[in-house]
Amino acid sequence: MPDDDRQRSHWAWGWAHKLPDENARRLLAAQVSALLGVPPGGFAPREAVPLAAARIAPSRAAPPPALAAFTTADDETRARRTYGRAWRDQWRGFHGDFAAAPDLVARPRDEREVEGVLEWAAASGAWVVPWGGGTSVVGGVEAVGGRERAPAVVALDLGALEQVLEVDTVSRAARIQAGALGPALERQLAAHGLTLRFFPQSFEHSTLGGWIATRAGGHYATGPTHIDDLVEAVRLVTPTGVWQSRRLPASGAGPSPDRLALGSEGAFGVITEAWVRVVPRPRWRASASVRFAELAAAVDAARAIAQSGLWPANCRLLDAREATINMVAQNACVLVLGFESADHALEPWMERALAIARGAGGEHAPPQYRDEGGRAGGGEAGRWREAFLAGPYLQPALLSLGIIADTFETACTWDRFESLYRDVTGAVREAARRLCGAGEISCRFTHVYSDGPAPYFTFIAPARAGEEERQWAELKRAASDAVIAAGGTITHHHAVGRTHEPWWRKERPEPFYRALAAAKAAIDPKGIMNPGVLGLTGGDAAR
Ligand SMILES: Cc1cc2nc3c(=O)[nH]c(=O)nc-3n(C[C@H](O)[C@H](O)[C@H](O)COP(=O)(O)OP(=O)(O)OC[C@H]3O[C@@H](n4cnc5c(N)ncnc54)[C@H](O)[C@@H]3O)c2cc1C
Repeated sequence: MPDDDRQRSHWAWGWAHKLPDENARRLLAAQVSALLGVPPGGFAPREAVPLAAARIAPSRAAPPPALAAFTTADDETRARRTYGRAWRDQWRGFHGDFAAAPDLVARPRDEREVEGVLEWAAASGAWVVPWGGGTSVVGGVEAVGGRERAPAVVALDLGALEQVLEVDTVSRAARIQAGALGPALERQLAAHGLTLRFFPQSFEHSTLGGWIATRAGGHYATGPTHIDDLVEAVRLVTPTGVWQSRRLPASGAGPSPDRLALGSEGAFGVITEAWVRVVPRPRWRASASVRFAELAAAVDAARAIAQSGLWPANCRLLDAREATINMVAQNACVLVLGFESADHALEPWMERALAIARGAGGEHAPPQYRDEGGRAGGGEAGRWREAFLAGPYLQPALLSLGIIADTFETACTWDRFESLYRDVTGAVREAARRLCGAGEISCRFTHVYSDGPAPYFTFIAPARAGEEERQWAELKRAASDAVIAAGGTITHHHAVGRTHEPWWRKERPEPFYRALAAAKAAIDPKGIMNPGVLGLTGGDAAR
């Protein structure tokens, strides 16, 4: 088992030692009581079932001799490769429920061993679930139905493939193995003065292959927002051969092989490496935050900046509740702006963006400028960054108090935002109050485009003991129904997986889906690759 495994929580996001302790959780309970207007003392911290006492489904398979050197049926290793990090995943892990554990975990050391796993699976009918960092929040790594429908399920952990293999400093691209976690690939690129500059909130525990497989969103708020924009070429081991696209800055040669690999969620094969576009590490940074009394004015400012051609690296709009909960500002909307460059000082860009924001009615303190790698921040922008990094540890802390807290995200055109915001927040607040007796929801923009924002919602509600999973599912349904009805997408960057498939079905064109299912059948005729994600089940999927 890799060393990092022992330091990671077996059920919650991130490092075990970073989970808030009992005192911190009691404080959190008091804050949530005040926020939700429920009596203090109702939320008592409980402890997770330790892994040694957890119920881990027994393995049904011994490592096949050809794979034995890098495959294990060890209980703890399997339990740690059972779920992603959605609320429901953490809930089951907290209660020691690992009924969906895979039978085997394979950790290939090279591409030939990846091929070996696929050959064995094709011959035996076993299911293969590619495993990057296991941070999926859409059921992407849980082999639902595998115990009933396949003789074995193997989690294929890419973690041993974590090298930056080549750096092309002329074209500014790097060939990187798919299992590299964010910090590992950045460390290796830093030796060349370069960065992928792709920072999803899950950066520390997610992988390049996972980002490509899910079309992840990093934290450039404009410009190259998705990993799609950074992928130059991709290499995928499929059950029917290797899929290697050519390194090109762009190509108009028909539908793009990279585009089909992007977002394939392990259903077509295993991404083993990719050429990605890298940039010099930024030298100049500028940051500022602008307050608005009204959301509509703040949205106008964000839209005008998104349409200005300034392309800020950061352009996050927090509604008043989001700013208050994160202790960024009290009862005001806040637009956090950031620019960065390795090439030039940024005053003109920042000054122009602030002029646009003032024109929409915003007020701000002087912007901060840093060079030579110093981090712009402090003030509201700095407080926002700290809240953003600590955020993922709050969800499991709240879960341990019997509080449901979760996030969902979408994108819509600017003309629809006002009604989407009203309808979605209204539907979730109503569902939370009906189901749980209280509830709150807040919103921020994670990304902005010239034609629309990507709103990201956080909701919180006190669960009723014994009904938590059902309540979470109903809240998720209320949110997803409202997003689709309001003209948004079911996901801007969290992917489809298994959880979002019923709503993705409502937005995808049917002929397109038939083509996708036919592609799956051609590439993976025995249906061994992560069956169920994207609603694709293999040879029988063309429906
Ligand atoms: C706290 C938190 C914050 C998050 N923040 C963001 C965010 O800011 N932006 C964002 O986009 N997402 C975010 N996510 C979601 C998640 O981190 C992303 O979907 C991420 O891209 C998953 O990467 P991973 O390496 O963990 O993949 P996994 O969770 O291991 O896998 C995800 C899917 O990709 C497939 N897969 C993984 N590796 C490969 C491979 N090499 N070849 C083929 N298929 C593969 C899996 O089978 C699965 O279907 C967040 C999640 C959490 C828990």
